[in-house]
Amino acid sequence: MEQKVAIITGASSGIGAATAKELAKAGVKVMLAARRAERMVQLQQELEADGGEACYQVADVTSLSDMEALAQKTIERFGKIDILVNNAGISPFSYLHKRRVQEWDQMIDVNIKGVLNGIAAVLPHMEERNEGHIINLSSVAGHEITPVRVVYSATKFSVRVITEGLRRELRPDQQIRTTLISPGAVETEISEGITDQEAIELLGRQASEQQALHAEDIARIIRFAVEQPSSVAINEIVVRPTSQR
Ligand code: NDP
Repeated sequence: MEQKVAIITGASSGIGAATAKELAKAGVKVMLAARRAERMVQLQQELEADGGEACYQVADVTSLSDMEALAQKTIERFGKIDILVNNAGISPFSYLHKRRVQEWDQMIDVNIKGVLNGIAAVLPHMEERNEGHIINLSSVAGHEITPVRVVYSATKFSVRVITEGLRRELRPDQQIRTTLISPGAVETEISEGITDQEAIELLGRQASEQQALHAEDIARIIRFAVEQPSSVAINEIVVRPTSQR
């Protein structure tokens, strides 16, 4: 793992920040990416204080030019890109009849186009080096359809399609791995983006019946996938809290 270089999107909180810590602990040089610079400055200092190597770049995943600049900066700073963790995502859940069309657009832009932009930004470099690892965050909602999560589910089903499609399109001689991670409930800030009161109440009732995972639980799983020998590709992991049905 020493000498590996990883870009992590959505690194300013939750699963992304925990993954940055876990990979840095394993000796990976990490490039943090998100929109909130102040969070990333703090995290970068924390990682460096623990002996890790880290850098950050403000990038909006919905912008291809931001993602290309991010890839460029990573190559300038660390010489290469071994791993991309396409983690940035949002989940403003709501009932379809509420017609929160703007939030649907945002989910499609961040959760689908953001993942595609990440792939577009790093793939030429990985193809040139003939190695790399692209890890995309889907969700249990990318496997199951439940009320208030319909548009979110559609985006996370898409992330599965994109990840599996990329795997199949890569030629057998291309040493590029893909991994899809589908977590169940994880306690992070993501639920703060929900504006539909009815959805908040429904989720509150569901949360009282089940425990949630911690962001660190997912970070350990990402590290597990990354640590495999390059000839071994962990293609998909679904992970739920034991109490989630
Ligand atoms: P958080 O809200 O804690 O983190 C989301 C991250 O995405 C933040 O760092 C945020 O940073 C970043 N982000 C949001 N929009 C953009 C954007 N346009 N450009 C760049 N970065 C952006 O959520 P989680 O850690 O929970 O979520 C991480 C991933 O895990 C998501 O893809 C989510 O769908 C998935 N997931 C989460 C589950 C959960 O229960 N928490 C369950 C299943 C999957 P900033 O605002 O600074 O840009």
